[in-house]
Amino acid sequence: MQKSLRALLVHASEADADPVVREMRRGGYALEYQRVDSSAALSKALVEKDWDLVISDYKLPGLNANDALKLFKKASLDCPFLLVSAAVPDETGVAMMRAGAHDYVVGPNLNRLIPVVERELAHAETRRQQKRAQERLQHLAYHDVTTDLPNYAFLHDRLQQAILNAERHGHEAALLMMKINRFQTLNETLSDQLVDVLLMQFGRRIKEVLQPSQTLAYLRGSEFAVLIPIANGGSKASLQLVRDINRTLERPFIIADGLKTEAQVTFGIALFPGHATTADLLIQRARIALAAAKRDRRQHAFYSVQQSESSQHQLTLVGDLRRAIIENQLFLLYQPKIDLSSLEVTGVEALVRWKHPSFGILAPNHFIPLAEQTGLIMPLTLWVLNQALRQCSLWNREGLRLNIAVNLSPWNLQSSALPEQIRGLLQSSGIQAERLELEITESAIMANPTQATEILTVLKEMGLRLAIDDFGTGYSSLALLHRLPVDVIKIDKSFVLKLATEAHDAVIVRSIIYLAHNLGLKVVAEGVENRETMRLLMKFGCDLAQGFHISHPRLPEELPRGLRFWEGDYRSSLL
Ligand code: C2E
Ligand code: CA
Ligand code: CA
Repeated sequence: MQKSLRALLVHASEADADPVVREMRRGGYALEYQRVDSSAALSKALVEKDWDLVISDYKLPGLNANDALKLFKKASLDCPFLLVSAAVPDETGVAMMRAGAHDYVVGPNLNRLIPVVERELAHAETRRQQKRAQERLQHLAYHDVTTDLPNYAFLHDRLQQAILNAERHGHEAALLMMKINRFQTLNETLSDQLVDVLLMQFGRRIKEVLQPSQTLAYLRGSEFAVLIPIANGGSKASLQLVRDINRTLERPFIIADGLKTEAQVTFGIALFPGHATTADLLIQRARIALAAAKRDRRQHAFYSVQQSESSQHQLTLVGDLRRAIIENQLFLLYQPKIDLSSLEVTGVEALVRWKHPSFGILAPNHFIPLAEQTGLIMPLTLWVLNQALRQCSLWNREGLRLNIAVNLSPWNLQSSALPEQIRGLLQSSGIQAERLELEITESAIMANPTQATEILTVLKEMGLRLAIDDFGTGYSSLALLHRLPVDVIKIDKSFVLKLATEAHDAVIVRSIIYLAHNLGLKVVAEGVENRETMRLLMKFGCDLAQGFHISHPRLPEELPRGLRFWEGDYRSSLL
């Protein structure tokens, strides 16, 4: 089989080149060649075409092999350069090799030419492969494998360049950090492969709205970043980009046949030079802004000093929380639930508080997320369960038979040890299992439905009662509700608060009650703040109510007369 070869020959005439051409063809090469005989022609030819091989005679009028080699090196091609000349001794060939030629064939006999060409072509191929491998490594070092987007290292480099540039020209730069909302849930419900597909599509979608000067990077989890170098008006440009990205995310993603998902994002923005003047700080502060936006449930936030203080504050809190659990700085408030047909208190919900030595009394939204992030949620939950059950047995001794409800975090449902731990606590407090109700949010179950259902089933078999908390806020399907071993749903307070004034909310609440009853579930409405709401709920057939109108969460000793106050006057005053 003939091997095709594109060769550039540096020879004074066709006649000079002819022996080389003939030898190559004899050696089995389908040679396609161009002959040049001047520096100008050589320079031009070197850049014009892709060559497999350059062969140069030693001496031409107005050009010798050394000059040719220099021009060859300047063009930095990766093909072999051979000196082939009948007129020079070995020493010249050696000198040429020292100067960078790949090999030489000198003397009248061209026998060696074919083996030399073969060997040098093979070497050249190896060099090319090595170069490609190196480029690939370089690419990998600066790109994420899944999304093929620039990674942290790349972004960091670009940021440093952008900062240098901005400093030199008095320009600005903006760093937008973004995360996909509820990614944790997506991550736990979709297969790894589908998550990758989503991340890839997401990256492509964002790129569509970027200018060539803007860099998109994928950092970790669902965290992406965009660097915007800009002459001035960094905050305006960021906001414009936030809008553009939001618009492009309105279309759902189709990640598999018939499987659609949406991806909304939260943004944190830090500006150079306003918020930070180094790459590290810009990244850190954009992340702080992002965390603040998430905490405040806003779509985007610019960095501010207060955010840093509060993230510092969070760090201090983590250390403190560990101690708080051991040193009993936590305490429980209890909020009654009343039966809407008898107006009797049938149970209470335990709500945790933290009496912090220097910050005072903290509400759960200030430390539960922290406990969840740091693995302290398990000891915290067990502390709450233990405390609530002990209180329940105290009430028992006073002759008050109350159900006690405790909130579980999504993370608690990841632990298969939970049922046994609860069994132990029930035994030591002497409380019957059916008096303990666990409140779990929809998202907790959706995060890992299989595992959650398993644990819930065990708890259910132990005789506990299970409630879906904040019902209506997540996206749990009715089908799922049907399969879960739950007894109660608690309609989220966002629907109940304006029940009396918003017709739309009334429709939702009414249909949730209807639906739940059809599934054989009891319904609790939380967030009952006024008489009108109470009345409507009764009319809709709701089973239980909880809210400020009935009682704020209180310390046990502050609950009026050990909860016997729902008698006579007080009861009628509720209606
Ligand atoms: P949640 O389970 O939905 O608890 C009800 C929240 O609504 C309580 O807030 C309660 O004080 C408040 N609330 C009750 N009635 C009304 C009302 O009529 N109007 C309004 N506007 N609000 C009312 P709190 O105590 O701040 O608890 C907030 C959240 O913290 C709870 O929401 C629960 O998700 C979580 N949490 C509380 N204690 C614990 C706990 O021991 N463990 C876990 N994992 N989470 C807890
Ligand atoms: Ca609750
Ligand atoms: Ca709730």
